[in-house]
Amino acid sequence: KVVCVTGASGFIASWLVKLLLQRDYIVKASVRDPNDPKKTEHLLSLDGAKQRLHLFKADLLEEGCFDPVIDGCEGVFHTASPILLSSIDPQAELIAPAVKGTLNVLKSCAKYPTVKRVVLTSSMAAVIYNGRPLTSNVVVDETWFSDPLVCEEMQGWYILSKTLAEEAAWKFAEANGIDMVTINPAYVIGPLLQPTLNLSVEMVLNLKNDAQEETFVNYLSTDVRDVASAHIQAFEVPSASGRYCLVANVTPVVEVLKILKELHPSLGPPEICEQGIPSAPEYQVSLEKAKSLGLGFLPLEVSLRDTVECLKEKGFL
Ligand code: NDP
Repeated sequence: KVVCVTGASGFIASWLVKLLLQRDYIVKASVRDPNDPKKTEHLLSLDGAKQRLHLFKADLLEEGCFDPVIDGCEGVFHTASPILLSSIDPQAELIAPAVKGTLNVLKSCAKYPTVKRVVLTSSMAAVIYNGRPLTSNVVVDETWFSDPLVCEEMQGWYILSKTLAEEAAWKFAEANGIDMVTINPAYVIGPLLQPTLNLSVEMVLNLKNDAQEETFVNYLSTDVRDVASAHIQAFEVPSASGRYCLVANVTPVVEVLKILKELHPSLGPPEICEQGIPSAPEYQVSLEKAKSLGLGFLPLEVSLRDTVECLKEKGFL
């Protein structure tokens, strides 16, 4: 079977390519710069890459450039999207590539009848922020959809980009009869295949719970290996449909800091501040629908341990 992965050099996508090759798929993978060894070497050295991995150059903002990547594919995994915590021009840096890029990919999918299903990497960012209060008795699930106005009020431009992209994707998919499934993870951690850091793993290096981070009480995480498997299940399980919240662990950040400190003394703040910080999660996220895909989830301790091991190996710690 032939499938396409957009943004293949990224953290999640690299694992997705690895697992797809392991499962004997032929993978057409898009990267922005196929000549940059930092973005491609780790992909080209994967088992099966020589025989079944084909790299293409594609930019989210270039109309039609995904046509040759998607032509002949049965499954399309659209993972590419910019992730930035701060931006000078959110429209140009985040919103346009996320929204126009997603539509660009879906327009190519609509052109080729070989495409049976699209799996879109969305985010819990497109789920949580709808203005409903997040209290300890709340269980967030797939029926929640972030409200662009709430995202704007928060000046959460990345959150807004993912919300608008998923919203636009559903509209386009429904209007054009595309079978689409979304995977909505929160913080994705675990070992990196690529030589560079991505944002959610870099955050492990800088995780604190001081006053500036007071809103960061819950740490919502999933291991990258489980996120990649979820994408494949979403494609392979015929009955998969709609959205899947993919949050394996909802943990008070204080607990995460304690585990990190044990794993490496330089991680976390010098003193973990527990005063006034709730020791129970603020809210929960339902895993029921995700479990119906037949997925298991690695425990937080294992994901953090493997993340830290990898950071040491690659010289970031
Ligand atoms: P990475 O930053 O590792 O990967 C992002 C990918 O998007 C890169 O391959 C990047 O290409 C590509 N990209 C960005 N802008 C463009 C563009 N204009 N044209 C083409 N490609 C582009 O991130 P992750 O692997 O962590 O994230 C992958 C997806 O998962 C994203 O959609 C993200 O929103 C989503 N997600 C991630 C979470 C996380 O915690 N990591 C949580 C929830 C969702 P290049 O390498 O050339 O920069």
